[in-house]
Amino acid sequence: MSRFILKDRKAKKEQSKQHVEDLKTDKNTRNQKVLNNICPRCGGQLVVRTGKKGKFKGCSSFPKCRFIA
Ligand SMILES: [Zn+2]
Repeated sequence: MSRFILKDRKAKKEQSKQHVEDLKTDKNTRNQKVLNNICPRCGGQLVVRTGKKGKFKGCSSFPKCRFIA
């Protein structure tokens, strides 16, 4: 009986590991898109904007999309 529990625990551990990998991939894809001036949220173009705190890269679809790199 305990064997089944162990197997289950291992499976859960594997799942969470996979989840972390997915998150890493997501971040990499996001960064890659930002570097290419593509908004990862809506696929629009990122433009350099000047705000109160200086220059920043934001989505050109603002205020529809509020993505800020
Ligand atoms: Zn956007």
